[in-house]
Amino acid sequence: MPDPGKFAPTREAALESLARFVPVAGRAYAEGRNFDPGPEAGSAVSRLSPYLRHRVITEAEVIDRVLARHDPAASEKFVQEVLWRTYWKGWLEMRPWVWLRFLETRDRQRDGLADPRALADAEAGRTGVEGFDDWARELTQKGYLHNHARMWFASIWIFTLRLPWALGADFFLRRLVDADPASNTLSWRWVAGLQTPGKTYLATRENIARFTAGRFAPSGLATEAHALTEPPSGPAADLPEAAGSPPTGPFLLLATPEDLSPDQGWIDPAAMAAAAVTADPRLSFGEAARRFTAGAATDAADRLAGRVEGPVTNLPALDAGHLTSAARAAGVRTIVTPYAPVGPTAEALAQLVPGLEAEGLRLVQIRRDWDSRFWPHAKAGFFAFRKHIPGLLGVEARR
Ligand SMILES: Cc1cc2nc3c(=O)[nH]c(=O)nc-3n(C[C@H](O)[C@H](O)[C@H](O)COP(=O)(O)OP(=O)(O)OC[C@H]3O[C@@H](n4cnc5c(N)ncnc54)[C@H](O)[C@@H]3O)c2cc1C
Repeated sequence: MPDPGKFAPTREAALESLARFVPVAGRAYAEGRNFDPGPEAGSAVSRLSPYLRHRVITEAEVIDRVLARHDPAASEKFVQEVLWRTYWKGWLEMRPWVWLRFLETRDRQRDGLADPRALADAEAGRTGVEGFDDWARELTQKGYLHNHARMWFASIWIFTLRLPWALGADFFLRRLVDADPASNTLSWRWVAGLQTPGKTYLATRENIARFTAGRFAPSGLATEAHALTEPPSGPAADLPEAAGSPPTGPFLLLATPEDLSPDQGWIDPAAMAAAAVTADPRLSFGEAARRFTAGAATDAADRLAGRVEGPVTNLPALDAGHLTSAARAAGVRTIVTPYAPVGPTAEALAQLVPGLEAEGLRLVQIRRDWDSRFWPHAKAGFFAFRKHIPGLLGVEARR
């Protein structure tokens, strides 16, 4: 069973968690994944999300190991769950305005909040709703919640406590180690009935009692969940262009919290003149994620130091000044960084470009094959996307 302990921010710890999980990634996962036995008990889920979120390990690595051990039918559920993450990332990449709309909604809801105490009570776990209060505290203490608890929590927040949905999504972003603009925002939207218009998720006492093995059976929950509404936001845009491999010639590699294993099976460290790693605190939403990415960035820098010819620098801030100095020290004019999907890192990189160009430097984002293969299929719903999974993974023949 996966260790319910803390998330050590190293690739070694990620690989150990994966190795512990792989044997139970088949039917045991499919049958047990909806049960949340509580933070101190071993659950059937992998708890790999902080590592996947920051690409300390990649989706491709996780799925390769699982498929090497289980046949595609037995591991179908787990593979699909990992692909939910990929799907949400691709979906948001083609609708970046949904993220901007979330940020605006969050600010508007915060400014217009009629009862700030109700929000403070919900975040502190003082509402009197059994289970909900425990999950609020668990989230704050551990930086993680089981998927089912996230669904119950979001549903109670929106439909029982009638709190503004974007402030709930913001609370998650500030607390989760795996806080992710796509998975978090779109899951909250899905519960609220905004993502699949009209379809909401209603948490019930019976479902909670069953899947927490009787730990919680809250009373007084909403019995109806009327979908929230918003103005229509239009069809998907084209996926932004991005190269799949670095340009020839020497470059400085820049690793950010969006991909902390750029040396793994993708960019040849021998081609890097030097490397810079940053866990700029502004790129994370809350303290838990900040602590994790700071540790994981140091770990990435240590790994790179043994493999890159030139120096490996830990950049305290992602700004043009620090990057220019690192590129100058390496004697290069090109900076290569893994593609940053919608969120604070993408915004920070976009802001850097004019300053770098003024110094004669070029910033090139390159996208992993995994993303380029799957994301174009995330234009519509997950069920349309799902049909492509076996073909794109090349596992159809073995089914
Ligand atoms: C309201 C809400 C908010 C969420 N916010 C986030 C978030 O900020 N970041 C995040 O990574 N996940 C988020 N999720 C998805 C999911 O809850 C977590 O990925 C999962 O609980 C992580 O635990 P695990 O690694 O043990 O999952 P496992 O069940 O072991 O799944 C393996 C991996 O698949 C991916 N995955 C599994 N389920 C989902 C899902 N429903 N959606 C997207 N990816 C999934 C994750 O990368 C996960 O690590 C949210 C879900 C809800 C309902």
